[in-house]
Amino acid sequence: MSGAAATTPAVQDYDYVILGGGTAGCVLANRLSARSTNRVLLIESGLDTPPEAVPADILDPYPSSYVNPAYRWPIRGHALTLSDSPANPLLHAQVMGGGSSIMGMIMLRGVPADYDGWEAAGARGWGWDAVLPYFRDLENDLDFDGPLHGRAGPTEIRRHRMHDWPPLAKAANQVAERTGAPFIADMNGDFRDGHGALPIAGPTSHRTSSATAYLTREVRARKNLTIVARAQAQALTLDGRKVTGVRVRTLEGDLVARARETIVTMGALLTPDFLLRQGIGDPTQLKAHGVEVRHARTGVGTNLQNHAALVVLAHLRKAGVQRRPQRNHNNTIFRYSSGLPGGVESDMALALSSRASWHAVARRIANFSPLIMAPASRGSVSLPPDGGPAPLVEFNLLGSALDQSRLADGLHRALALVTAPEVACLIGRPVAASRLQNAARFNAVTPMNRMRTHAIATLMDLVPGLGDWVIGNMGAPGGGLAELLSDKDAVADYIRANVTPIAHHSGTCRMGAIEDPLAVVDPQGRVIGLDGLRVADASVMPTTPRGNTNLPVLMIAEKLSAAILEAQA
Ligand SMILES: Cc1cc2nc3c(=O)[nH]c(=O)nc-3n(C[C@H](O)[C@H](O)[C@H](O)COP(=O)(O)OP(=O)(O)OC[C@H]3O[C@@H](n4cnc5c(N)ncnc54)[C@H](O)[C@@H]3O)c2cc1C
Repeated sequence: MSGAAATTPAVQDYDYVILGGGTAGCVLANRLSARSTNRVLLIESGLDTPPEAVPADILDPYPSSYVNPAYRWPIRGHALTLSDSPANPLLHAQVMGGGSSIMGMIMLRGVPADYDGWEAAGARGWGWDAVLPYFRDLENDLDFDGPLHGRAGPTEIRRHRMHDWPPLAKAANQVAERTGAPFIADMNGDFRDGHGALPIAGPTSHRTSSATAYLTREVRARKNLTIVARAQAQALTLDGRKVTGVRVRTLEGDLVARARETIVTMGALLTPDFLLRQGIGDPTQLKAHGVEVRHARTGVGTNLQNHAALVVLAHLRKAGVQRRPQRNHNNTIFRYSSGLPGGVESDMALALSSRASWHAVARRIANFSPLIMAPASRGSVSLPPDGGPAPLVEFNLLGSALDQSRLADGLHRALALVTAPEVACLIGRPVAASRLQNAARFNAVTPMNRMRTHAIATLMDLVPGLGDWVIGNMGAPGGGLAELLSDKDAVADYIRANVTPIAHHSGTCRMGAIEDPLAVVDPQGRVIGLDGLRVADASVMPTTPRGNTNLPVLMIAEKLSAAILEAQA
């Protein structure tokens, strides 16, 4: 999303320029500037969140910042393809800390087989045994210790205590016990399938973002670190095969930052978009869009992955409502293996929550979400046909028939859970969500929405049947979940119309061996065939891990920082 460069810019010299102050960028800024001889510049297009002025909705241990449009890029994407599905607004952060400042705060590592798979795919040095030390060192796990955990890292991780779980999570645990699914107390160390307590970023009082953990007062006081927020990287400067720096638009005017290395950390949608606009990508695509080919690298923007989701909703009866003043978001999740041909171990999850958003109506909504954790489908990020400033994002979430089958199976498993007696007594009639725009208009945090939702919620508690009617308005037309699942064709249509990507964008500049024609970066994050340019964010993942992506991105940034410093030494 970069535009044309302006004229007469100031020129500054650095060793490292980091483009994007998101989850990964904040880590790199900290680690590279820890060596006092390195001059480091961090550029972030969103607002800064310095320790003395972190907005309350970002600190909130309930992820209120999720719904604040001030922290988001206005980009859209197709759940399927350009021709098969509409361009819906996407969740993509634009604020210091990036996704870690607005995310749901779930901190899963994935499973060891994810990283062994990376190694097998050509990302040498990224197998489980090699990444574990970085996972360990970046965390301060407030609950678990031992060889799999760290206690001294900058990112606090905790779990909601079982006695603080809302009734729905407790009921799900009873179902798990009755059906023989083990309780997984430590999902980041015990990788079996089962019903697990979700790890959360931060202590009970506040969120820990990459910005709050890595850009502390002490780090910001370093003379060799410059942080410029509300500034946008516009264009790379190249001298032959060497990237020499970047042109940046700041609030004070344009700047050319010359650097030994430029490190792109704009996230897995905007990093490939930026590279393509710089002429780094598939020559056929670049030429078709009139972009001069500066470096042919066919894989840029391919291999887009995401965890695909569906949503089942039900009215949460009074006995099921989460107690105040708890600000829990998700508490637990089922990790399971679909067992379908082609599916791998732990390829699916069924998440549940007792609170769909910040407001009073959302506290009366139970949410059950089948998720594909090991997607087989691949999408792409490419230059847009209209020549506009935003990329064309096609997730192609049903590109593989296996993913369609796993979601259908996931809906059946959701039905089994919501009709289990332990859960059924807490909720009304479950529906497969479809018309969520009916609810989304209440997401803006305004006094009017607060008043309206409070009034509706009070009526939902008092008027029998009203809760089911409200939730029914967010469901697929024609009946509840059970009715939908009785018709195979209707299920397939429902999935095509409602499958959703969940902001775990990854894989669009994947790591691999330098001989691999579709790899974009080598295992040190260096763009293959160019000097002075790295990618160090969620884009480099060869496959998305079987867990949420923020913690793996922190690990990637820590490991690549270490590689850069080691190469210097
Ligand atoms: C709403 C939401 C909820 C999520 N929930 C969870 C969760 O519960 N658990 C989990 O593990 N993961 C979650 N994720 C995903 C997780 O946050 C991401 O995987 C992670 O943040 C990706 O890190 P990144 O460094 O690759 O990119 P980002 O964190 O997205 O950082 C990219 C940064 O680059 C900046 N940028 C882009 N272009 C430019 C430019 N031209 N110039 C300057 N700056 C630029 C952006 O403003 C942004 O701040 C969620 C994400 C979102 C958006």
